[in-house]
Amino acid sequence: MASTHKKIITELLERIDGVSTKDALALLAESFPGKVTFSSSFSFEDQLISHEILHNNLPISIFTLDTGRLFSETYSVWVSTNERYNTHIIPYYPQAEALGKFVTEKGPNSFYESVENRKGCCYIRKVEPLKRALSGNQVWVTGLRAEHSPDRQGLEMLEWDESNNIIKFHPLLHYTTEQVREEIAKNNIPYNSLHDRDFVSIGCLPCTRAIRPGEDFRAGRWWWEDADKKECGLHVHK
Ligand code: SF4
Repeated sequence: MASTHKKIITELLERIDGVSTKDALALLAESFPGKVTFSSSFSFEDQLISHEILHNNLPISIFTLDTGRLFSETYSVWVSTNERYNTHIIPYYPQAEALGKFVTEKGPNSFYESVENRKGCCYIRKVEPLKRALSGNQVWVTGLRAEHSPDRQGLEMLEWDESNNIIKFHPLLHYTTEQVREEIAKNNIPYNSLHDRDFVSIGCLPCTRAIRPGEDFRAGRWWWEDADKKECGLHVHK
């Protein structure tokens, strides 16, 4: 089974080599009809990918994980995106019963108390809804870039995600921050206004802060934890 996935991914990597982001997305949508989905957190990167999909009418579904703890600015850019492209980005929510039990037992802000609590909250609010959102799809498009963190440097644009049983496609993997910003400005794409206030990687409100000059891209996420623990479980790399 593993060799089958490897062969498919190798062939797809050859086919998308050197083509534009739009054409690579179109090629995947054509190769896996109705089975390609994109998870957007409304970040700069994700807004650029949404633009490519929606502006070009590519048959790729777009969903977001509404954790219930997002910034109001994030909801604003969600509204602007729906309006600009005349679309309806699909929200996935945590399961009410699991979330209610967790918050009852641990309290609403238990993520500050331990890594275990933080990962528990991320699992209920993000990882489990993600699994539901990906279910039935064959390709998961993401906005990961190599610049984001050291463990993303060695990634290929396509990889097999064992935990979700799906091919992951990172169309902007080799884009620089400047390139993404240029494309956003050039195409007048709606973006999260927090980016203008030194927020770089934007997640839930209680777990995200602005970064200072010279700080790492991920410094504003879970800043009270060790740097090597700062993944929420959405993207697991070998
Ligand atoms: Fe919970 Fe924070 Fe994770 Fe959001 S980022 S799901 S609030 S621990």
